[in-house]
Amino acid sequence: MVSGEWRKRDGDRDGFDGSSRVALGGQGGAMTAEEKKTIEISGIGVSPGVVFGVAYLIAKRSPVIAPTIVPEDKVESEIEHFRQAVEASRKQILALRRRVADMLHESHATIYDTHLMMLEDETLYAKTIQTIKADRLNAEYAFDRSVKRLAERFATIDDPYLRARGGDLEDIYHRVLNNLLELYHEPLFEIESPVIVVARDLTPSDTANMIGRPILAFVTDKGGPTSHAAIMAKALEIPAVVSAEGITGAVNAGDLLLVDGGRGTITVSPDEALLRRAERTIRLHERQETDRLQLRDLPAETLDGYRIEVAANIEFPEEAPHVIMHGADGVGLFRTEFLYLNKDRLPEEEELYDLYASVVRQLAPKPVIFRTVDLGGDKLANYITGSPALNPYLGLRAIRLSLANPDMFRTQLRAILRAAAHGVVKIMFPMVTRLEEVRQARNALAKARRELRAEGVAMGRRIEIGTMIEVPSAALVADILAKEVDFFSIGTNDLIQYTLAVDRVNPTVAQLYDPLHPSVLRLISHVITAAHEAGIWVGVCGEMAADPLMAMLLVGMGVDELSMGPVVIPVVKSALRNITLAQAREMASEVLSLPTAQQIRAAMTKRRRQFG
Ligand code: PEP
Ligand code: MG
Repeated sequence: MVSGEWRKRDGDRDGFDGSSRVALGGQGGAMTAEEKKTIEISGIGVSPGVVFGVAYLIAKRSPVIAPTIVPEDKVESEIEHFRQAVEASRKQILALRRRVADMLHESHATIYDTHLMMLEDETLYAKTIQTIKADRLNAEYAFDRSVKRLAERFATIDDPYLRARGGDLEDIYHRVLNNLLELYHEPLFEIESPVIVVARDLTPSDTANMIGRPILAFVTDKGGPTSHAAIMAKALEIPAVVSAEGITGAVNAGDLLLVDGGRGTITVSPDEALLRRAERTIRLHERQETDRLQLRDLPAETLDGYRIEVAANIEFPEEAPHVIMHGADGVGLFRTEFLYLNKDRLPEEEELYDLYASVVRQLAPKPVIFRTVDLGGDKLANYITGSPALNPYLGLRAIRLSLANPDMFRTQLRAILRAAAHGVVKIMFPMVTRLEEVRQARNALAKARRELRAEGVAMGRRIEIGTMIEVPSAALVADILAKEVDFFSIGTNDLIQYTLAVDRVNPTVAQLYDPLHPSVLRLISHVITAAHEAGIWVGVCGEMAADPLMAMLLVGMGVDELSMGPVVIPVVKSALRNITLAQAREMASEVLSLPTAQQIRAAMTKRRRQFG
């Protein structure tokens, strides 16, 4: 409290209650499943797992801030009050930053640097003080005005990166205002008993506060698969669904929720039957967890002794321990672009080298396949990619972007080559469509190698170079590409999208996105044949490899390696250990002769029953 009695800073005056904690654990106020209608809301599943529990609603209501004229002799103390609120905010953000860096990793903490910078932003800080001084307005109102002005600027700029900064601005807004109104509290940090967090969106401050709290899952109205919250969910292994439009409106605090982070669904007030089914799924997952421990050190080997490499897909260095824990034969796909997102500048060589080397060291002597950045498409870092194109998936993305930005590419290649000195590294290029791209990328790599040699810097010597096969054009010239590389990794997520002309993130055409379409299977088969004829190995690192039955099919088609999210490795391993190679081959040859995806699916389901 800064001044005398001229007004009360209790938040009631303007109806602002900051982030309100509506339910805390338990079933307080919850209706029973019988009383409420069961509804299901879909979103994007960004972190797998099935859980049920009570809803903990984070309701961030926008405050109504009324202007008040500050008496002339109180202007200085009002400014001081604002300065103190900003300083308190700064300390809080620094504490969050430390917590994230200590408990997760430095790479997740850099977003808070943006928040700290925003606090000092001219429009926010100096302008607010100026308004208090010149117009004798109360600090809350002056600050609210500054933020709105900045938000308007963000909103008019057609740039998703700056729009994302708008989300950060909102985070800062609530924080400073809470401090001004002396309402500061971190609702997520106060959670003591297991709950499912439901929010419109989760800010970086919110996600930092979730670390170490008993949060079973979280679901949000907003957010995308590459939002900060989604990335954190994966790193924390918390099931999560984002972009579940309408979820905060449909849920009351204390409601029973069933969340499936793999399917991307939330069931509000699930009925008994659904709960029983969920319990069975959870028990199955628990059994899989036990299998995981038993299978960890066993190879993915069919009953007749055919060995397949089963590797892990990762996005962040801190996932390396999960890779080992789940018994992977290595990292089959390191999606390096995530270290370029949620930033406002390119990462430096030293920064990348440290992160890469830590993964390589942890995995050694198992290999780590670095995929060079695959930005563009749905993974936009606008400080590199520029404004979004009308068809971002067909635009300047992946290897095209790297070749168009030689300095950025060079930095990444140097960091990978240096990290290779600490273990076994392979490199592959994303979204190649033509031979020239492979040659140009290899030339860039050779150049980076020459530079490092001339500088006397340690680097890995024997590094296999591969290319991803994600576009029909690459699949169709696989025999040509195979002569220039050591391996192929088929990215089925994109191969399906580009073959079937079905946007992989557009829910309205999701039913057309079918990995079992005969055209997709024919392309995969063609790639495998071309690779083997050229004497190179071929893997699959798209989601298709993570489905046990499809993994069997791929093995039957001749794939040598499968790469998937670490948690599904034991499931796929156990599936492969329960069939013979002959069975898998029989299934593949039947499937490749069928004309529709529907018939293929039916044939595979029948075989699954036979395999038991
Ligand atoms: C793929 O396209 O299958 C793939 C693995 O790459 P991403 O999912 O990162 O596009
Ligand atoms: Mg891809």
